[in-house]
Amino acid sequence: MIGQVAGVRGVAPLLPMDAVRWGAVEDCLRALMDAYGFREIRLPILERTELYARAVGEVTDIVEKEMYTFTDRSGDSLSLRPEGTAGCVRAGIEGGLFHNQAQRLWYQGPMFRHERPQKGRYRQFHQWGVEAYGMVGPAIEAEIIALGARLLAKLGVETRLLLNSLGTPQCRERYREALVRYLMAHRERLDDDSLRRLERNPLRVLDSKNPDMAALLAEAPAIADSWSAESRSHFAALQDHLAALGVAFEVAPRLVRGLDYYTHTVFEWTPHETLAQATVIAGGRYDGLVSGLGGAPTPAVGFAIGMERLVALVTRLPAPPVLDVFIMASASFQRQALVLAERLRDAGFTVETHLAGASGRSQMKRARDSGARVIVEAKDEVAIVHGGPVKDEGAMPWAEAVVRISQILGAEANIDGK
Ligand code: ATP
Ligand code: MG
Repeated sequence: MIGQVAGVRGVAPLLPMDAVRWGAVEDCLRALMDAYGFREIRLPILERTELYARAVGEVTDIVEKEMYTFTDRSGDSLSLRPEGTAGCVRAGIEGGLFHNQAQRLWYQGPMFRHERPQKGRYRQFHQWGVEAYGMVGPAIEAEIIALGARLLAKLGVETRLLLNSLGTPQCRERYREALVRYLMAHRERLDDDSLRRLERNPLRVLDSKNPDMAALLAEAPAIADSWSAESRSHFAALQDHLAALGVAFEVAPRLVRGLDYYTHTVFEWTPHETLAQATVIAGGRYDGLVSGLGGAPTPAVGFAIGMERLVALVTRLPAPPVLDVFIMASASFQRQALVLAERLRDAGFTVETHLAGASGRSQMKRARDSGARVIVEAKDEVAIVHGGPVKDEGAMPWAEAVVRISQILGAEANIDGK
């Protein structure tokens, strides 16, 4: 035997039984994107490293230690995308999407971060991103938050919505000074990571995942004390909008996002249990990014769903598609089974065939596991083994099989009220 090639750590295939669950969640998401007027954009997985250094920020976990970066054969430094917003903005600028018009976009697909793999944290993971451009003010924020809340409700996911505001860049600067004063006064209690961040990007100290720092950070000054009147009324209006929409939230005074480009509103949904890697959806307003990447100043707000974490929390799945017919065939009747299956598919039914030449018993087990509405066995004649409200159908000649099976499925469909 030749040895197997191991997969890459933290990078997993999605097996068929899990893909069904994912597919159902994705269908639910697609329907919601339509319901809220968002259109799909398909983005490259490879970008220039510089894009992330500029958009995400040099002093972030992502850029400092998580990116898959390499030099390609032309000598360019490229990175596998660690997140979608930067690439979405770059593509939007290049494609002229932000010229004097509002844009509502969504994308989905794999992202790559070199993190320590554990439950809910992988090196290849999937995000579903929702981004709205060209809209100032809290109304659009309230609308996409309502979208997120509707998604979670539909899927039966229990989470809390946490909200905060980082205010304008000036508020942030004032806050930065207050925070540095506080952290400097408690220098000896900071871990190495936080000491480094204190030097280069102090707000990110609040993002620390080290439980030993939690008590210190809980006492840190709140950004609310640094808000301008404008920031304060923006945030108040958002809360009023959410109340009018019946969306429950909690204000989390020390919530900051890991990425540098946020202004005003930041939010995340996190399950009731307090786990470091628990946040399912994270987002906020990022008015500075489009101009920061060379586009005309364009307000923007969005969120990204961590799909692995979302799928794991789903308690209510939309019904999976039903299989109409399962055909079992012994080795000498495989061709007839193939033809019957094709004719039934011509008639619009979903059909699975068992063509592995296994024993009748193991075929029957597969057939029952498939959940098919009708199971037939292909022999000299076609026998209905199971299914349909019409009892005692017995065997039927091959020539009649398509019509009879269609009738049975049709009769059942009528009973189901389909
Ligand atoms: P965390 O605090 O969990 O590291 P983050 O702040 O790095 O998250 P974002 O960059 O805001 O996360 O990404 C948005 C969402 O993507 C997260 O809330 C999470 O659901 C998901 N996500 C991020 N990193 C991973 C990962 N390595 N594996 C699985 N999901 C992830
Ligand atoms: Mg992270």
